[in-house]
Amino acid sequence: MQGMTLSELARALREGEISSFELTKQCLHRIHEEDTQIGAFLSVFEEDALCAAREFDTLPDRQKWCSPLAGIPTAVKDNLMTAGKRSTCGSRILADFVPPYDATVVSALKKAGAVIIGKTNMDEFGMGSTTEHSAFYITRNPLDSMRVPGGSSGGSAAAVAAGMVPFALGSDTGGSVRLPASYCGLVGLRPTYGTVSRFGLTAFCSSMDTVGPITKTAADNALVYAAIAGRDPKDATGCAFDFHIPKREEPLRVGVIAQLMGEAISDEVRNAIEEAIDVFKATGAMVKRVSLPSLCDALYAYFIISSAEASSNLARFDGVRYGYRAEDCGDLENLYRQSRDEGLGEEVKRRIRLGTYALTRENKEAYYYRALSVKDTLVSQFALAFADCDILLCPTAPDIAPKFGQMQTPTQMYCQDLCTVPMSLAALPALSIPCGKSREGLPIGMQIVGRPFSEGLLYYAGMLYEKEAGK
Ligand code: GLN
Repeated sequence: MQGMTLSELARALREGEISSFELTKQCLHRIHEEDTQIGAFLSVFEEDALCAAREFDTLPDRQKWCSPLAGIPTAVKDNLMTAGKRSTCGSRILADFVPPYDATVVSALKKAGAVIIGKTNMDEFGMGSTTEHSAFYITRNPLDSMRVPGGSSGGSAAAVAAGMVPFALGSDTGGSVRLPASYCGLVGLRPTYGTVSRFGLTAFCSSMDTVGPITKTAADNALVYAAIAGRDPKDATGCAFDFHIPKREEPLRVGVIAQLMGEAISDEVRNAIEEAIDVFKATGAMVKRVSLPSLCDALYAYFIISSAEASSNLARFDGVRYGYRAEDCGDLENLYRQSRDEGLGEEVKRRIRLGTYALTRENKEAYYYRALSVKDTLVSQFALAFADCDILLCPTAPDIAPKFGQMQTPTQMYCQDLCTVPMSLAALPALSIPCGKSREGLPIGMQIVGRPFSEGLLYYAGMLYEKEAGK
């Protein structure tokens, strides 16, 4: 069952070819066999998962098939709260933190009948693009163990790519669902900001944080999105909308983002996107190049805004209320200092420093406000591009998954986010789908970007591409 998609497994369950218990056992078996090598999971709920699956199997038929996720095992990123289960955010400061409640998306999965079998590894607090910044261990890319799986939801992507679960949830602030999906040959959605509840997602950058699914196909992704999307009174930024995949007669109007097809993108990736464009053309799509001049500043703006917000959001980890507390600190000031110093990793500290610097009275104008104005300009430039395009296309990453150690400086790591942060700044939905392979056989990802609330159209375009490219 391990290579099967979510949709195929849902059918097999419904037709009685396999039970949820059997399927869950197979997933756990796969984890036992592979995960010491890969490191996708931070915790596995073996007994609870088997219990939940057995319970599901005994439900009467009319209660069972409440959703396409019913009886399907899954995993969630460790920054999503799970009641009574360790939720570490990949950080030492929360190594023993057990929340008393479930994140709204976790409750939504349970309500849909999914069986949560564990929590996945991540860059600490979501800060990173490789999952090398977890306080616990690295995660390896199941397609090539010498390479990173992408980050920060690298554990979720690796778990799906290795056949340990048919789908998983990640979080995407600046690309953390899309980048690992791309590096692991999977489909990942960054939803429109506000359409999926963040209640119970540990805040990194509140103005850009989202939760999104990682799956093998676009159709599978839509099934998960339908289960987790919706207004939640516990998330003030939430909004409801009518999600459906449109049936279209008219051809798509496709814009290719010129700034993301230039020198910063490797030849292999650029060629793969050009080929994908031809696939869209073959469906009758009208294709044009669009220019978004402010894209060149997006990466700087993203790192300033996200670090500024992180420096404020992470102030709650002070050794008093949550998690790790240093010992023998003397006074309160030292308790804060030492607990944070010992509990937080280097990358997180770097962001806190950068963010605090950008927010000081002397620097606010030059950095923080300037970054916000780049964001505003970008929003208008995207709006202009969407005036005569239904979707925009661009790569998900400038290159294929790097090898461990290849990214030697923080700046090199940040550059992997070049193609994903613009949509985060503009609060747009973006679907990353596989579009070919490199010479070494490693996956290349393409983003399909839409107007706010156009998830249905993104899935339509993704499925159209998968069908046409598979011919
Ligand atoms: N890689 C980006 C960063 O390091 C994005 C992270 C994310 O989306 N959580 O900030």
